[in-house]
Amino acid sequence: MDKIIPKQVQCDGHASIIDGKALAGKIRAELKAAGHKANLAVVIVGDDEASHVYVRAKIRAADEVGLGTKLFELDKKTAEVELVKLIEKLNKDKSVDGILVQLPLPKQINERKVLALIDSRKDVDGFTAKNAGQLFLGEEGLFPCTPCGVIEMLESVGETFKGRHAVVVGRSNIVGKPMAMMLLNKGCTVTITHSKTVDLTMHTKMADILVVAVGKRNLITASMVKPGATVIDVGINRYEGKLCGDVDFDAVRDIAAYITPVPGGVGPMTIAMVLKNLTKTIKV
Ligand code: NAD
Repeated sequence: MDKIIPKQVQCDGHASIIDGKALAGKIRAELKAAGHKANLAVVIVGDDEASHVYVRAKIRAADEVGLGTKLFELDKKTAEVELVKLIEKLNKDKSVDGILVQLPLPKQINERKVLALIDSRKDVDGFTAKNAGQLFLGEEGLFPCTPCGVIEMLESVGETFKGRHAVVVGRSNIVGKPMAMMLLNKGCTVTITHSKTVDLTMHTKMADILVVAVGKRNLITASMVKPGATVIDVGINRYEGKLCGDVDFDAVRDIAAYITPVPGGVGPMTIAMVLKNLTKTIKV
């Protein structure tokens, strides 16, 4: 794939903004041009509004690049056994290349149990133990979409990774941990920080690459960032009716070399990576 150079908006001599919306658009255009043929089964249980918004966005994006989708909308009272049966059916269905189960699932359903059932070759979210293990071992596989998107954003601005100090804030199975592993596999020296970390600033101040995935508005302030760092804000928060990330964007962009906005940063890249993973699924 040709190197994609995203639109970088110079902010009055401060950090360049890595425009995730533009970069995701270019990736989708490349996927469309490649003419991939694959079908994604999207399973959603219940009526969580945000989940329905995400699912619609993923289906729209797949349509746009010519990838097929089948939507399975299940009632919020669906029993675990019913969802298990559906996953088993989709695993066997040769017309289905990828399976995506939108999280969160209702309380009566054991999320880990259901995700573990997905055939790892159809696991477009990269949540199964097999794919997580492959990431851990530095092998090929289908890996979580948000950290994959972050890596592509970093590559788009010529990040070299090797020997750079990356600090990841957050250790979830879907963002923080796989993010740290990807950066490690690329040759970064990686520090993982989390809610029990003592003196977060001491760590974040050392970061050449700072990836923040917590879900707390303004957690990262300017005094916590090393001058010239690349700051990737994964967080999504709602404040006064607007979306914002975990980073105090206005202040940190005076310090950093590159920064991602919220909205229009990591979010659109996550969706583009779902589609990219779908094109990487193996026919079974
Ligand atoms: P999570 O709740 O599973 O994990 C949050 C992590 O933050 C935990 O590991 C916790 O230890 C850590 N944490 C909490 N308080 C902290 C503190 N004071 N200092 C340091 N670490 C702290 O969340 P997640 O699923 O990893 O998501 C994180 C954020 O990223 C959320 O805002 C979520 O909405 C967002 N998100 C965005 C995308 C996207 O596409 N942009 C995708 C996934 C998640």
